[in-house]
Amino acid sequence: MKALVYKGVKNLVLEEVETPICPAGGILLRVKACGFCGSDLRTYYSGHTNVNSPWIIGHEVAGEVVEVGKYVDGYKKGNRLVVAPPVYCGICYFCKKKLYYLCENIKELAQHWPGGFADFMAVPPEALRLGNVNIIPEGLSFEEASISEPPSSCINAQEIAQIDKKNTVAIMGAGPIGCFHLQIARARGASKIIIMDILKKRLELAERFSPDVIINNKKENYIKKVLQATDNLGPDVVIVACPSPEAQVDSLKMARKGARVVFFGGLPHGKSKVLLDTNLIHYKALQVLGATTFSPEHNKMALNFIFGGKIEAKKYITHIFPLENFEQAIKVIEKGEALKVVLKP
Ligand SMILES: [Zn+2]
Ligand SMILES: [Zn+2]
Repeated sequence: MKALVYKGVKNLVLEEVETPICPAGGILLRVKACGFCGSDLRTYYSGHTNVNSPWIIGHEVAGEVVEVGKYVDGYKKGNRLVVAPPVYCGICYFCKKKLYYLCENIKELAQHWPGGFADFMAVPPEALRLGNVNIIPEGLSFEEASISEPPSSCINAQEIAQIDKKNTVAIMGAGPIGCFHLQIARARGASKIIIMDILKKRLELAERFSPDVIINNKKENYIKKVLQATDNLGPDVVIVACPSPEAQVDSLKMARKGARVVFFGGLPHGKSKVLLDTNLIHYKALQVLGATTFSPEHNKMALNFIFGGKIEAKKYITHIFPLENFEQAIKVIEKGEALKVVLKP
């Protein structure tokens, strides 16, 4: 089969590899669509601690079942499936409390098992038992379903931040993650949503999701603008959805007294020691929250949000390329011209 193989930093090669066999207790999937994630780009540029080369990456996978392994119930040939990467152990302290996203032994498809930038992908038995394998609802395309992984993490974060109807929400970063946060906050009933970025192209793309206020952080005094848009009180919730230490610092300044501030996503290696004014946390009684990855229920919710149109998947998919044109995918993401890019084997 054809596969896009990561062979080291800045070295992705499309080549012929052995087609995987269907594992006992697992499934063999004919990959129909696989999202190209920001983290795939990071792996391409600087490697990944859990990815050894050569390795098939690609973790936002949708495909059709071509073979069902021994002992597997509930799936059959021809099923259309979407597979998100986290696989939980099910027995650790956190799994027992159903806080799967905190699993001590979490493993990921495309890291511990080969991923979906290929004609076929084997879904291991562990992923069927304790993972995120869902049947794609009738009427939803493989491409639309494939992008259900990133909003799953956003849903988890917004549950942690308890965003509700009375809340004004400011989102720092208008990339795909920022836009998913926008639509999910809308779905949860947030009363006013402010989005900001330093890239004009990103803000233009974010406009399609009708934010209440849109701010160009390069051109405007954004803290002042956020305060103006919130009766000088600041937002109830600030979500930092960009890998920027400065954004984390400023999030505390713009937050309302008693607000929740979510640090969503990590900072690049070596940049995560940030000088925060902790007196702001103390005197404004802020809640600074972390959020990472998701549990199976969040992935199901993301798929339902896409199916129900609360997350308008088609508006995110700005580019679809055949697998062999992966270099174009890298280019459009680098230039900030894309929201979600999907590759099709
Ligand atoms: Zn991803
Ligand atoms: Zn666990």
